[in-house]
Amino acid sequence: MTLHAGVVAVQGDVSEHAEAVRSAAETHGEDVEVVEIREAGLVPTCDVLLLPGGESTTISRLLHREGIASEIRTHVDSGKPVLATCAGLIVAARDAGDERVDTLDVLDLTVERNAFGRQKDSFEAPISVEGLDDPFHAVFIRAPVISAVGDAEVLATWEGRPVAVRDGPVVGTSFHPELTGDHRIHDLAFFA
Ligand code: GLN
Repeated sequence: MTLHAGVVAVQGDVSEHAEAVRSAAETHGEDVEVVEIREAGLVPTCDVLLLPGGESTTISRLLHREGIASEIRTHVDSGKPVLATCAGLIVAARDAGDERVDTLDVLDLTVERNAFGRQKDSFEAPISVEGLDDPFHAVFIRAPVISAVGDAEVLATWEGRPVAVRDGPVVGTSFHPELTGDHRIHDLAFFA
C-alpha cells in the first residue's frame, strides 16, 4: 500500500519534510507518494499531512485564500495524522496571539510567535521526547513559545516550556524535526 503524504507547500521548507517522511516510511516498509499542496482538492487524497515552518502570517493567509484550510480541518476531524512544525504549529494552534494569523484551531494551544527571546532566536538543544528512547537534537529557528496548553498532551519540554505536543491526530513541535536527518518525530506522528 502506498501512503500519500501531503506537504503543505504554499510557503516554507518542503523538501526536507518530504525526505523525512520518505525515510520514516521506509523503516516501516511503506511506499510513500509525496504530494505538494498548493491548491484545494489534494488534501482529501492524503493519508497524512505536514505543515512545515516558514512564515505563519503568509501560510495562514494562503491556506484560507486557496480553500485548503477547511480541507485540513476535515482531515483532522476524520482522525488522520498531521505533523505541524514551527510556523506550522502556530497556524495549527487555537490561538496564535497575533490577529494576522487566522489559525486552523486543530491544536488546543496558545502560542507566542518569536518569543524565545533575541539571544535565543536560533538555538539547538537535545530534548527528551515522550515515546522516544534517546534525546532528540532539536533545532529552534525563531521558534514560537507554547504559552498555554489546553486539551493536549505535552510530549517534550525545554527549560520548563512545552516544545512538542499531541492533540488527537495532530503532533506539533516548536522546533524543526526535519533538519537533522533524524526522522523519529515523523515516525512518532505518522506511524506510532
Ligand atoms: N517566526 C516564524 C513565524 O512566526 C516561524 C519560524 C519558523 O517556522 N522557523 O511564523
